[in-house]
Amino acid sequence: DIYGAERLNSRGPNIDIDSEWTPFSQKVNHWLTHQWQGAPIINGEAIETGKRVEVRAPYDQRHLTGEVQFADAELAQRAIEAASAGFDSWHTTPVGIRTQSLMRLGDLLEENLDELVALCHQEAGKTIQDGIDEVREAVDFCRYYALRANELFTTTHTRLLADGEQHTLMRDGRGVFVCISPWNFPLAIFLGQVTAALAAGNTVVAKPAEQTSLIATRAIELMLEAGVPASAIQLLPGRGGEVGGPLTSDPRIAGVAFTGSTETARVISRALAARDCAPVPLIAETGGQNAMIIDSTSLPEQVIKDAVQSAFASAGQRCSALRVLCVQSDIADRIIDLLQGAMAELKTGNPCLHSTDVGPVIDTDAQQGLLQYIEQMQSHAQLLAQTPLHADAEQGTFVPPTAFEIDSIERLGREQFGPIMHLVRYEARDLDALVDQINRCGYGLTLGIHSRNEGTAAHIEARARVGNTYINRNQVGATVGVQPFGGQGLSGTGPKAGGPHYLLRFTRLQPAKPRQ
Ligand code: GLU
Repeated sequence: DIYGAERLNSRGPNIDIDSEWTPFSQKVNHWLTHQWQGAPIINGEAIETGKRVEVRAPYDQRHLTGEVQFADAELAQRAIEAASAGFDSWHTTPVGIRTQSLMRLGDLLEENLDELVALCHQEAGKTIQDGIDEVREAVDFCRYYALRANELFTTTHTRLLADGEQHTLMRDGRGVFVCISPWNFPLAIFLGQVTAALAAGNTVVAKPAEQTSLIATRAIELMLEAGVPASAIQLLPGRGGEVGGPLTSDPRIAGVAFTGSTETARVISRALAARDCAPVPLIAETGGQNAMIIDSTSLPEQVIKDAVQSAFASAGQRCSALRVLCVQSDIADRIIDLLQGAMAELKTGNPCLHSTDVGPVIDTDAQQGLLQYIEQMQSHAQLLAQTPLHADAEQGTFVPPTAFEIDSIERLGREQFGPIMHLVRYEARDLDALVDQINRCGYGLTLGIHSRNEGTAAHIEARARVGNTYINRNQVGATVGVQPFGGQGLSGTGPKAGGPHYLLRFTRLQPAKPRQ
Protein backbone atom coordinates (compact mmCIF):
# COMPACT_ATOMS: atom_id res chain seq x y z
CA ASP A 1 0.00 0.00 0.00
CA ILE A 2 1.97 2.97 -1.24
CA TYR A 3 -0.32 5.37 0.60
CA GLY A 4 0.19 3.63 3.94
CA ALA A 5 0.90 5.88 6.89
CA GLU A 6 4.16 4.07 7.56
CA ARG A 7 5.55 5.48 4.31
CA LEU A 8 4.69 9.05 5.15
CA ASN A 9 7.84 9.62 7.16
CA SER A 10 10.07 7.93 4.62
CA ARG A 11 12.34 10.96 4.38
CA GLY A 12 13.75 10.05 7.80
CA PRO A 13 14.28 11.89 11.03
CA ASN A 14 15.52 15.12 9.43
CA ILE A 15 12.03 16.03 8.45
CA ASP A 16 10.04 17.61 11.20
CA ILE A 17 6.56 16.24 10.72
CA ASP A 18 4.12 17.21 13.40
CA SER A 19 2.32 14.26 14.98
CA GLU A 20 -0.95 15.74 13.72
CA TRP A 21 0.08 14.82 10.21
CA THR A 22 -0.41 11.11 10.41
CA PRO A 23 -4.10 11.09 11.41
CA PHE A 24 -4.72 13.83 8.85
CA SER A 25 -2.91 11.85 6.17
CA GLN A 26 -4.98 8.79 6.98
CA LYS A 27 -8.14 10.81 6.47
CA VAL A 28 -6.80 12.05 3.13
CA ASN A 29 -5.80 8.50 2.16
CA HIS A 30 -9.40 7.31 2.50
CA TRP A 31 -10.26 9.49 -0.46
CA LEU A 32 -7.50 8.30 -2.75
CA THR A 33 -9.55 5.47 -4.21
CA HIS A 34 -12.68 7.58 -4.58
CA GLN A 35 -13.87 8.43 -8.06
CA TRP A 36 -15.36 11.88 -8.48
CA GLN A 37 -17.97 12.97 -11.02
CA GLY A 38 -17.95 16.38 -12.66
CA ALA A 39 -20.62 18.04 -14.77
CA PRO A 40 -22.04 21.41 -15.78
CA ILE A 41 -24.37 22.78 -13.12
CA ILE A 42 -27.21 24.96 -14.39
CA ASN A 43 -29.70 26.35 -11.88
CA GLY A 44 -28.42 23.88 -9.30
CA GLU A 45 -28.85 20.83 -11.50
CA ALA A 46 -26.04 18.62 -12.81
CA ILE A 47 -26.50 18.30 -16.56
CA GLU A 48 -25.95 15.08 -18.50
CA THR A 49 -24.23 16.17 -21.69
CA GLY A 50 -22.94 12.81 -22.81
CA LYS A 51 -19.51 14.34 -23.58
CA ARG A 52 -17.71 12.21 -21.02
CA VAL A 53 -14.00 12.66 -20.39
CA GLU A 54 -11.91 10.45 -18.10
CA VAL A 55 -9.72 12.22 -15.54
CA ARG A 56 -6.47 10.49 -14.62
CA ALA A 57 -4.01 11.31 -11.83
CA PRO A 58 -1.08 13.35 -13.19
CA TYR A 59 1.41 11.39 -11.06
CA ASP A 60 0.18 8.02 -12.34
CA GLN A 61 -1.85 7.86 -15.52
CA ARG A 62 -3.07 4.35 -14.61
CA HIS A 63 -5.07 5.81 -11.73
CA LEU A 64 -8.60 6.91 -12.63
CA THR A 65 -9.62 9.98 -10.59
CA GLY A 66 -13.09 10.31 -12.03
CA GLU A 67 -15.09 11.43 -15.00
CA VAL A 68 -16.36 14.80 -16.15
CA GLN A 69 -19.03 15.70 -18.65
CA PHE A 70 -18.12 18.68 -20.78
CA ALA A 71 -20.45 21.49 -21.80
CA ASP A 72 -20.83 22.85 -25.32
CA ALA A 73 -21.73 26.19 -26.92
CA GLU A 74 -25.46 25.57 -26.56
CA LEU A 75 -25.15 24.98 -22.84
CA ALA A 76 -23.09 28.18 -22.59
CA GLN A 77 -26.18 30.03 -23.86
CA ARG A 78 -28.35 28.36 -21.23
CA ALA A 79 -25.87 29.24 -18.51
CA ILE A 80 -25.89 32.92 -19.48
CA GLU A 81 -29.69 32.93 -19.63
CA ALA A 82 -29.89 31.36 -16.16
CA ALA A 83 -27.38 33.81 -14.68
CA SER A 84 -29.13 36.78 -16.33
CA ALA A 85 -32.46 35.66 -14.88
CA GLY A 86 -30.86 35.34 -11.42
CA PHE A 87 -29.27 38.80 -11.37
CA ASP A 88 -32.23 40.83 -10.20
CA SER A 89 -32.86 38.87 -7.07
CA TRP A 90 -29.15 38.43 -6.22
CA HIS A 91 -27.99 42.04 -6.49
CA THR A 92 -30.98 43.25 -4.52
CA THR A 93 -30.39 40.70 -1.76
CA PRO A 94 -28.99 42.58 1.27
CA VAL A 95 -25.21 42.37 1.23
CA GLY A 96 -25.14 40.79 4.70
CA ILE A 97 -27.20 37.85 3.44
CA ARG A 98 -25.12 37.52 0.27
CA THR A 99 -21.91 37.36 2.24
CA GLN A 100 -23.27 35.06 4.94
CA SER A 101 -23.37 32.25 2.39
CA LEU A 102 -19.76 32.97 1.37
CA MET A 103 -18.63 32.86 5.00
CA ARG A 104 -20.49 29.55 5.32
CA LEU A 105 -18.68 28.30 2.22
CA GLY A 106 -15.35 29.04 3.95
CA ASP A 107 -16.48 26.85 6.87
CA LEU A 108 -17.59 24.04 4.57
CA LEU A 109 -14.24 24.07 2.76
CA GLU A 110 -12.51 23.63 6.10
CA GLU A 111 -14.88 20.84 7.09
CA ASN A 112 -14.06 19.03 3.84
CA LEU A 113 -10.32 19.66 3.96
CA ASP A 114 -9.28 16.00 3.67
CA GLU A 115 -11.41 15.34 0.60
CA LEU A 116 -10.32 18.55 -1.09
CA VAL A 117 -6.63 17.90 -0.42
CA ALA A 118 -7.04 14.37 -1.85
CA LEU A 119 -8.80 15.77 -4.91
CA CYS A 120 -5.96 18.26 -5.37
CA HIS A 121 -3.49 15.32 -5.50
CA GLN A 122 -5.65 13.22 -7.74
CA GLU A 123 -6.68 15.79 -10.30
CA ALA A 124 -4.00 18.50 -10.14
CA GLY A 125 -1.00 16.47 -8.87
CA LYS A 126 -0.55 18.73 -5.83
CA THR A 127 1.62 17.73 -2.89
CA ILE A 128 0.09 17.47 0.57
CA GLN A 129 1.44 20.88 1.58
CA ASP A 130 0.29 22.50 -1.66
CA GLY A 131 -3.13 20.90 -1.23
CA ILE A 132 -3.49 22.30 2.28
CA ASP A 133 -2.27 25.73 1.16
CA GLU A 134 -4.73 25.63 -1.71
CA VAL A 135 -7.74 25.03 0.54
CA ARG A 136 -6.48 27.58 3.06
CA GLU A 137 -6.19 30.25 0.36
CA ALA A 138 -9.67 29.43 -0.96
CA VAL A 139 -11.08 29.85 2.56
CA ASP A 140 -9.24 33.16 2.91
CA PHE A 141 -10.72 34.44 -0.36
CA CYS A 142 -14.27 33.55 0.74
CA ARG A 143 -13.90 35.37 4.05
CA TYR A 144 -11.84 38.32 2.82
CA TYR A 145 -14.16 39.20 -0.06
CA ALA A 146 -17.23 38.71 2.12
CA LEU A 147 -15.84 41.13 4.72
CA ARG A 148 -14.75 43.64 2.07
CA ALA A 149 -18.19 43.52 0.44
CA ASN A 150 -19.87 44.16 3.78
CA GLU A 151 -17.82 47.37 4.08
CA LEU A 152 -18.07 48.45 0.48
CA PHE A 153 -21.80 48.01 0.05
CA THR A 154 -22.80 49.67 3.27
CA THR A 155 -20.80 52.83 2.56
CA THR A 156 -22.70 55.54 0.75
CA HIS A 157 -21.02 58.61 -0.65
CA THR A 158 -23.42 61.53 -0.17
CA ARG A 159 -22.91 65.23 -0.90
CA LEU A 160 -25.44 67.89 0.06
CA LEU A 161 -25.41 71.12 -1.97
CA ALA A 162 -26.21 74.52 -0.46
CA ASP A 163 -29.65 74.57 -2.08
CA GLY A 164 -30.54 71.24 -0.53
CA GLU A 165 -29.86 69.14 -3.63
CA GLN A 166 -28.37 65.82 -2.62
CA HIS A 167 -26.06 63.49 -4.55
CA THR A 168 -25.60 59.92 -3.46
CA LEU A 169 -23.26 57.30 -4.89
CA MET A 170 -23.53 53.65 -4.06
CA ARG A 171 -21.91 50.47 -5.36
CA ASP A 172 -23.88 47.76 -7.09
CA GLY A 173 -23.23 44.57 -9.06
CA ARG A 174 -22.78 44.89 -12.84
CA GLY A 175 -24.65 41.84 -14.12
CA VAL A 176 -23.39 38.45 -15.32
CA PHE A 177 -19.66 37.96 -14.77
CA VAL A 178 -17.78 35.24 -16.64
CA CYS A 179 -14.97 33.75 -14.52
CA ILE A 180 -12.32 31.77 -16.41
CA SER A 181 -9.84 30.14 -14.07
CA PRO A 182 -6.56 28.19 -14.34
CA TRP A 183 -5.64 24.63 -13.36
CA ASN A 184 -2.66 25.63 -11.20
CA PHE A 185 -4.89 26.97 -8.40
CA PRO A 186 -8.01 24.96 -9.21
CA LEU A 187 -9.78 25.74 -5.96
CA ALA A 188 -8.21 28.98 -4.67
CA ILE A 189 -8.21 31.07 -7.85
CA PHE A 190 -11.42 29.44 -9.08
CA LEU A 191 -13.24 30.39 -5.88
CA GLY A 192 -11.35 33.68 -5.53
CA GLN A 193 -12.80 34.96 -8.80
CA VAL A 194 -16.27 33.53 -8.21
CA THR A 195 -16.65 34.72 -4.61
CA ALA A 196 -15.42 38.22 -5.53
CA ALA A 197 -17.94 38.48 -8.34
CA LEU A 198 -20.76 37.14 -6.16
CA ALA A 199 -19.88 39.26 -3.14
CA ALA A 200 -20.01 42.31 -5.38
CA GLY A 201 -23.58 41.47 -6.39
CA ASN A 202 -23.01 39.82 -9.77
CA THR A 203 -24.25 36.47 -10.90
CA VAL A 204 -21.61 34.19 -12.36
CA VAL A 205 -20.93 31.78 -15.17
CA ALA A 206 -17.76 29.94 -14.13
CA LYS A 207 -15.59 28.21 -16.73
CA PRO A 208 -12.87 26.25 -14.91
CA ALA A 209 -9.72 24.97 -16.62
CA GLU A 210 -10.63 21.76 -18.42
CA GLN A 211 -7.88 19.86 -16.53
CA THR A 212 -9.45 20.56 -13.13
CA SER A 213 -13.20 20.30 -13.67
CA LEU A 214 -13.77 17.84 -10.81
CA ILE A 215 -12.39 20.24 -8.18
CA ALA A 216 -14.56 23.01 -9.64
CA THR A 217 -17.65 20.80 -9.56
CA ARG A 218 -17.05 19.89 -5.91
CA ALA A 219 -16.50 23.57 -5.05
CA ILE A 220 -19.82 24.58 -6.63
CA GLU A 221 -21.65 21.75 -4.86
CA LEU A 222 -20.32 23.13 -1.57
CA MET A 223 -21.25 26.67 -2.60
CA LEU A 224 -24.85 25.62 -3.20
CA GLU A 225 -24.86 23.78 0.13
CA ALA A 226 -23.62 26.99 1.75
CA GLY A 227 -26.74 28.80 0.56
CA VAL A 228 -25.70 30.64 -2.61
CA PRO A 229 -28.89 30.57 -4.72
CA ALA A 230 -28.80 28.20 -7.68
CA SER A 231 -29.62 31.00 -10.12
CA ALA A 232 -26.57 33.04 -9.00
CA ILE A 233 -23.88 30.54 -10.00
CA GLN A 234 -23.66 28.47 -13.17
CA LEU A 235 -20.79 26.06 -13.81
CA LEU A 236 -19.56 25.21 -17.29
CA PRO A 237 -16.69 22.73 -17.44
CA GLY A 238 -15.53 22.31 -21.01
CA ARG A 239 -12.87 23.08 -23.57
CA GLY A 240 -11.74 26.68 -23.93
CA GLY A 241 -12.43 26.86 -27.67
CA GLU A 242 -15.88 25.35 -27.36
CA VAL A 243 -17.20 27.12 -24.26
CA GLY A 244 -14.91 30.11 -23.59
CA GLY A 245 -15.46 31.64 -27.05
CA PRO A 246 -19.28 31.73 -26.88
CA LEU A 247 -19.15 33.12 -23.34
CA THR A 248 -16.77 35.99 -24.03
CA SER A 249 -18.46 37.05 -27.27
CA ASP A 250 -21.94 37.16 -25.74
CA PRO A 251 -23.46 40.67 -25.56
CA ARG A 252 -25.27 39.85 -22.31
CA ILE A 253 -22.19 39.54 -20.13
CA ALA A 254 -21.11 42.40 -17.87
CA GLY A 255 -17.45 41.52 -17.33
CA VAL A 256 -14.78 38.81 -17.41
CA ALA A 257 -12.31 37.73 -14.74
CA PHE A 258 -9.53 35.64 -16.24
CA THR A 259 -6.34 34.03 -14.94
CA GLY A 260 -4.09 32.22 -17.40
CA SER A 261 -1.71 32.99 -20.23
CA THR A 262 -1.08 36.42 -21.73
CA GLU A 263 -2.01 35.02 -25.19
CA THR A 264 -5.44 33.88 -23.98
CA ALA A 265 -6.00 37.24 -22.27
CA ARG A 266 -5.46 38.89 -25.66
CA VAL A 267 -7.93 36.50 -27.32
CA ILE A 268 -10.55 37.36 -24.68
CA SER A 269 -9.85 41.06 -25.02
CA ARG A 270 -10.41 40.85 -28.79
CA ALA A 271 -13.64 38.87 -28.33
CA LEU A 272 -14.97 41.48 -25.91
CA ALA A 273 -13.99 44.34 -28.21
CA ALA A 274 -15.69 42.70 -31.20
CA ARG A 275 -19.09 42.61 -29.48
CA ASP A 276 -21.49 45.18 -30.83
CA CYS A 277 -22.58 46.44 -27.41
CA ALA A 278 -21.41 48.30 -24.32
CA PRO A 279 -17.74 47.79 -23.34
CA VAL A 280 -17.20 45.78 -20.16
CA PRO A 281 -14.22 45.27 -17.85
CA LEU A 282 -11.67 42.49 -18.29
CA ILE A 283 -9.70 41.58 -15.17
CA ALA A 284 -6.73 39.53 -16.38
CA GLU A 285 -3.98 37.95 -14.28
CA THR A 286 -1.41 36.45 -16.58
CA GLY A 287 2.16 35.16 -16.64
CA GLY A 288 5.53 36.32 -15.41
CA GLN A 289 9.22 36.06 -16.27
CA ASN A 290 10.16 36.53 -12.63
CA ALA A 291 13.65 37.36 -11.42
CA MET A 292 15.39 37.18 -8.06
CA ILE A 293 18.37 39.53 -7.64
CA ILE A 294 21.10 38.40 -5.29
CA ASP A 295 23.90 40.74 -4.26
CA SER A 296 27.15 39.87 -2.52
CA THR A 297 25.87 40.91 0.92
CA SER A 298 23.14 38.25 0.86
CA LEU A 299 23.24 35.08 2.96
CA PRO A 300 23.96 32.24 0.52
CA GLU A 301 22.18 29.49 2.51
CA GLN A 302 19.06 31.64 2.80
CA VAL A 303 19.24 32.48 -0.90
CA ILE A 304 19.34 28.82 -1.86
CA LYS A 305 16.44 27.84 0.37
CA ASP A 306 14.29 30.67 -1.02
CA ALA A 307 15.38 30.25 -4.65
CA VAL A 308 14.77 26.49 -4.66
CA GLN A 309 11.37 26.93 -3.10
CA SER A 310 10.41 29.76 -5.45
CA ALA A 311 11.51 27.88 -8.57
CA PHE A 312 10.60 24.27 -7.87
CA ALA A 313 7.81 24.12 -5.28
CA SER A 314 4.48 23.30 -6.97
CA ALA A 315 6.70 21.99 -9.82
CA GLY A 316 7.25 25.62 -10.82
CA GLN A 317 3.61 25.90 -11.88
CA ARG A 318 2.89 29.26 -10.33
CA CYS A 319 2.82 32.48 -12.26
CA SER A 320 4.78 33.97 -9.35
CA ALA A 321 7.54 31.32 -9.61
CA LEU A 322 11.20 32.25 -9.95
CA ARG A 323 12.43 31.88 -13.54
CA VAL A 324 15.78 33.68 -13.48
CA LEU A 325 18.17 33.97 -10.57
CA CYS A 326 20.47 36.98 -11.09
CA VAL A 327 23.64 36.57 -9.02
CA GLN A 328 26.38 39.14 -8.45
CA SER A 329 29.43 37.52 -10.02
CA ASP A 330 31.60 37.73 -6.84
CA ILE A 331 29.44 35.08 -5.19
CA ALA A 332 28.14 33.20 -8.24
CA ASP A 333 30.40 30.16 -7.94
CA ARG A 334 29.48 29.69 -4.29
CA ILE A 335 25.76 30.01 -5.08
CA ILE A 336 26.03 27.51 -7.95
CA ASP A 337 27.82 25.06 -5.69
CA LEU A 338 25.09 25.28 -3.05
CA LEU A 339 22.34 25.14 -5.67
CA GLN A 340 23.74 21.92 -7.09
CA GLY A 341 23.80 20.41 -3.60
CA ALA A 342 20.24 21.49 -2.84
CA MET A 343 18.87 20.24 -6.16
CA ALA A 344 20.52 16.86 -5.64
CA GLU A 345 18.50 16.60 -2.39
CA LEU A 346 15.12 17.40 -3.94
CA LYS A 347 12.77 14.44 -4.26
CA THR A 348 10.34 14.09 -7.10
CA GLY A 349 7.54 11.58 -6.67
CA ASN A 350 4.02 10.73 -5.69
CA PRO A 351 2.55 13.95 -4.29
CA CYS A 352 0.58 11.99 -1.66
CA LEU A 353 3.83 11.20 0.18
CA HIS A 354 5.35 13.62 2.66
CA SER A 355 8.78 12.81 1.25
CA THR A 356 7.90 14.40 -2.10
CA ASP A 357 9.15 17.92 -2.78
CA VAL A 358 8.24 18.17 -6.46
CA GLY A 359 5.20 16.46 -7.95
CA PRO A 360 4.21 16.07 -11.59
CA VAL A 361 3.28 18.80 -14.04
CA ILE A 362 -0.36 19.01 -15.01
CA ASP A 363 -0.53 16.94 -18.20
CA THR A 364 1.31 15.39 -21.12
CA ASP A 365 1.17 18.54 -23.25
CA ALA A 366 2.83 20.56 -20.50
CA GLN A 367 5.39 17.80 -19.90
CA GLN A 368 6.30 17.51 -23.59
CA GLY A 369 6.70 21.27 -24.01
CA LEU A 370 8.96 21.56 -20.96
CA LEU A 371 11.08 18.53 -21.90
CA GLN A 372 11.52 19.93 -25.39
CA TYR A 373 12.66 23.26 -23.96
CA ILE A 374 15.20 21.49 -21.72
CA GLU A 375 16.47 19.61 -24.77
CA GLN A 376 16.82 22.80 -26.86
CA MET A 377 18.56 24.69 -24.06
CA GLN A 378 21.29 22.04 -23.81
CA SER A 379 22.83 23.37 -27.04
CA HIS A 380 23.16 27.04 -26.05
CA ALA A 381 23.20 27.17 -22.25
CA GLN A 382 25.16 25.44 -19.55
CA LEU A 383 23.27 22.81 -17.59
CA LEU A 384 24.04 23.56 -13.92
CA ALA A 385 21.96 20.91 -12.19
CA GLN A 386 19.15 18.47 -12.80
CA THR A 387 17.36 16.50 -10.11
CA PRO A 388 17.06 12.83 -11.06
CA LEU A 389 13.50 11.53 -11.33
CA HIS A 390 12.22 8.83 -8.97
CA ALA A 391 11.89 5.19 -10.00
CA ASP A 392 8.36 4.98 -11.50
CA ALA A 393 8.28 8.53 -12.88
CA GLU A 394 7.39 7.31 -16.37
CA GLN A 395 3.86 6.48 -15.13
CA GLY A 396 3.15 10.19 -14.67
CA THR A 397 3.84 13.56 -16.21
CA PHE A 398 7.09 14.41 -14.41
CA VAL A 399 9.73 16.92 -15.46
CA PRO A 400 13.08 16.94 -13.66
CA PRO A 401 13.86 20.18 -11.79
CA THR A 402 16.53 21.77 -13.99
CA ALA A 403 18.81 24.81 -13.76
CA PHE A 404 20.68 26.42 -16.66
CA GLU A 405 23.20 29.23 -16.72
CA ILE A 406 22.54 31.77 -19.47
CA ASP A 407 24.69 34.74 -20.43
CA SER A 408 21.94 37.33 -20.65
CA ILE A 409 18.35 37.80 -19.57
CA GLU A 410 17.64 38.73 -23.15
CA ARG A 411 18.05 35.04 -24.02
CA LEU A 412 14.86 34.22 -22.15
CA GLY A 413 11.98 33.69 -24.50
CA ARG A 414 8.47 32.78 -23.42
CA GLU A 415 7.63 31.91 -19.84
CA GLN A 416 8.29 28.20 -19.18
CA PHE A 417 5.57 27.13 -16.76
CA GLY A 418 7.37 24.36 -14.90
CA PRO A 419 10.39 23.41 -12.74
CA ILE A 420 13.04 25.14 -14.87
CA MET A 421 15.24 27.90 -13.49
CA HIS A 422 17.84 30.05 -15.23
CA LEU A 423 20.82 31.71 -13.63
CA VAL A 424 22.61 34.77 -14.90
CA ARG A 425 25.68 36.55 -13.46
CA TYR A 426 25.91 40.33 -13.22
CA GLU A 427 28.61 42.81 -12.14
CA ALA A 428 27.79 45.16 -9.26
CA ARG A 429 28.30 48.22 -11.52
CA ASP A 430 25.66 46.85 -13.91
CA LEU A 431 22.88 46.53 -11.37
CA ASP A 432 20.70 49.28 -12.87
CA ALA A 433 21.18 47.86 -16.37
CA LEU A 434 20.11 44.48 -15.05
CA VAL A 435 16.89 45.87 -13.56
CA ASP A 436 16.22 47.70 -16.84
CA GLN A 437 16.67 44.43 -18.75
CA ILE A 438 14.20 42.71 -16.44
CA ASN A 439 11.74 45.55 -17.04
CA ARG A 440 12.24 45.26 -20.80
CA CYS A 441 10.98 41.64 -20.77
CA GLY A 442 7.58 43.30 -20.59
CA TYR A 443 6.24 41.13 -17.79
CA GLY A 444 6.00 42.55 -14.30
CA LEU A 445 4.75 40.08 -11.75
CA THR A 446 7.07 39.11 -8.88
CA LEU A 447 10.64 40.12 -8.03
CA GLY A 448 12.78 38.62 -5.27
CA ILE A 449 15.63 40.65 -3.78
CA HIS A 450 18.30 39.22 -1.50
CA SER A 451 20.58 41.82 0.05
CA ARG A 452 21.53 42.84 3.56
CA ASN A 453 22.07 46.34 2.32
CA GLU A 454 18.73 48.07 2.82
CA GLY A 455 19.68 50.87 0.45
CA THR A 456 20.34 48.43 -2.40
CA ALA A 457 17.09 46.57 -1.81
CA ALA A 458 15.11 49.83 -1.74
CA HIS A 459 16.89 51.07 -4.90
CA ILE A 460 16.05 47.88 -6.83
CA GLU A 461 12.49 47.91 -5.58
CA ALA A 462 11.98 51.50 -6.72
CA ARG A 463 13.46 50.89 -10.19
CA ALA A 464 11.67 47.62 -10.98
CA ARG A 465 8.28 47.59 -12.65
CA VAL A 466 6.59 44.60 -11.02
CA GLY A 467 3.47 43.88 -9.04
CA ASN A 468 4.95 42.15 -5.99
CA THR A 469 8.45 42.44 -4.52
CA TYR A 470 9.73 40.15 -1.79
CA ILE A 471 12.89 41.00 0.14
CA ASN A 472 15.10 38.34 1.75
CA ARG A 473 12.48 35.61 1.45
CA ASN A 474 10.88 33.39 -1.18
CA GLN A 475 8.68 35.00 -3.81
CA VAL A 476 5.69 32.66 -3.99
CA GLY A 477 2.56 32.14 -1.94
CA ALA A 478 1.09 35.62 -1.56
CA THR A 479 -1.25 35.72 1.44
CA VAL A 480 -4.80 36.99 0.87
CA GLY A 481 -5.33 40.38 2.48
CA VAL A 482 -1.64 40.75 3.33
CA GLN A 483 0.17 40.59 -0.01
CA PRO A 484 -2.39 41.65 -2.64
CA PHE A 485 -1.29 39.77 -5.74
CA GLY A 486 -1.09 40.84 -9.37
CA GLY A 487 1.26 42.35 -11.89
CA GLN A 488 1.58 44.94 -14.59
CA GLY A 489 2.43 45.02 -18.31
CA LEU A 490 2.19 41.55 -19.88
CA SER A 491 1.44 40.15 -16.41
CA GLY A 492 -2.05 41.54 -16.16
CA THR A 493 -4.51 44.35 -15.78
CA GLY A 494 -4.89 44.43 -12.01
CA PRO A 495 -6.58 45.09 -9.65
CA LYS A 496 -4.71 42.82 -7.28
CA ALA A 497 -6.44 39.67 -6.08
CA GLY A 498 -6.78 39.46 -2.31
CA GLY A 499 -6.37 43.22 -2.05
CA PRO A 500 -8.66 46.04 -0.95
CA HIS A 501 -9.38 47.27 -4.50
CA TYR A 502 -10.23 43.97 -6.16
CA LEU A 503 -13.99 44.05 -5.65
CA LEU A 504 -14.32 47.57 -7.05
CA ARG A 505 -13.73 46.39 -10.62
CA PHE A 506 -16.64 43.97 -10.28
CA THR A 507 -19.04 46.78 -9.42
CA ARG A 508 -20.63 49.86 -10.95
CA LEU A 509 -21.29 53.13 -9.20
CA GLN A 510 -24.82 54.33 -9.36
CA PRO A 511 -26.30 57.58 -8.20
CA ALA A 512 -28.95 56.26 -5.83
CA LYS A 513 -29.14 53.73 -3.11
CA PRO A 514 -29.84 50.30 -4.65
CA ARG A 515 -32.71 48.32 -3.22
CA GLN A 516 -31.04 46.70 -0.24
N1 GLU B 1 -0.84 33.86 -5.85
C1 GLU B 1 0.09 32.83 -6.18
C2 GLU B 1 1.42 33.04 -5.50
O1 GLU B 1 1.62 34.05 -4.87
C3 GLU B 1 0.31 32.66 -7.65
C4 GLU B 1 -0.94 32.70 -8.47
C5 GLU B 1 -0.78 32.09 -9.85
O2 GLU B 1 0.11 31.29 -10.11
O3 GLU B 1 -1.67 32.39 -10.68
O4 GLU B 1 2.28 32.21 -5.60
